[in-house]
Amino acid sequence: MKKRVLVTGGAGFIGSHICEDLVKKGHDVICLDNYFTGGKENINHLRDFKNFELIRHDVTEEIRLEVDQIYNFACPASPIHYQNNPIKTIKTNVLGTLNMLGLAKRVRARILQASTSEIYGNPLEHPQKEEYWGNVNTIGIRSCYDEGKRLSETLCFDYHRYNSVDIKVIRIFNTYGPRMHIEDGRVVSNFIVQALQNKDITIYGDGSQTRSFCYVDDLLKGIIDMMNTENFIGPVNLGNDGEFTVKELAEMVIRLTGTKSKIIYKALPQDDPARRRPDLTIAREKLNYQITIQLEEGLKKTIAYFDNYLKNMK
Ligand code: NAD
Ligand code: UDP
Repeated sequence: MKKRVLVTGGAGFIGSHICEDLVKKGHDVICLDNYFTGGKENINHLRDFKNFELIRHDVTEEIRLEVDQIYNFACPASPIHYQNNPIKTIKTNVLGTLNMLGLAKRVRARILQASTSEIYGNPLEHPQKEEYWGNVNTIGIRSCYDEGKRLSETLCFDYHRYNSVDIKVIRIFNTYGPRMHIEDGRVVSNFIVQALQNKDITIYGDGSQTRSFCYVDDLLKGIIDMMNTENFIGPVNLGNDGEFTVKELAEMVIRLTGTKSKIIYKALPQDDPARRRPDLTIAREKLNYQITIQLEEGLKKTIAYFDNYLKNMK
């Protein structure tokens, strides 16, 4: 059935993929963004669709709209961007989520909150299951994002308990793919752009820290399925459970691009998690979640995207 759907952060990397999917399925989509890290180029191709609408707005301010579903994705996701103005990051997570929950309550919409693996902090349990409460520094440089996202989860569950708001909470693990900003600063886009430009590849620390990288198409399916599933509110981990060191990632990007770039080592940022891998048991059980694109294949697609992007910039 056709729905009216609000996607906050809809001009960002993941948000733009959600908008595109929903527009093509015939839903009425409102993309809301303040363009802090997203851009109109991510959703320009949707602007001729009659069922697509764009609003420049900041989620920290209230807004009144009539919608059936809300995907709350507004928030910078890259450490350099969310640390650029940490107070604003907190406001986006706390006031932004409050505003969206208030809207969901008022119009009885279902709301899906984009939470993150960062709520596990520097995890002492591995892989991370949803029942793990995490190991988070409250006063570090990542805290604005980690604690902001933790509070946004709390808000969702309190609105659910006290106001019967129809919530869904997903915890996204490192996701990459086309439409990441060229200066996003996260590791996959950094390494690919550096490699394509034959610049030094910057490993922070000794590169032994691990991450589990998910290609955006697999995540997108999990997100849409979670929104449309009944009798399950989460939280649920979504990502890819293949685990790689940052050094392995750098070596793979070098091999796949055939670059002349050399690896250089820089200081490891404060509170950088040492290991991260999702336990996807619940996603598989509740959503029949499946990984279809492994790292090498996803990197090839992303390399092709950035290669084309850089050529068009010239
Ligand atoms: P992104 O930075 O590309 O997208 C975020 C979007 O939100 C941008 O378009 C930005 O302009 C917009 N935005 C930021 N603050 C806003 C505000 N106050 N009002 C309105 N719009 C605002 O990042 P992304 O990777 O697409 O992440 C999207 C969401 O998914 C974020 O909430 C992020 O925390 C979450 N997430 C992403 C990952 C990942 O690996 N990509 C992992 C965990 C969680
Ligand atoms: N990283 C790196 N070089 C870069 C960017 C990131 O070595 O140019 C490292 C970073 O220190 C972290 C990992 O890659 O250990 C993932 O970083 P990212 O910012 O992508 O995501 P997050 O730390 O939030 O998982």
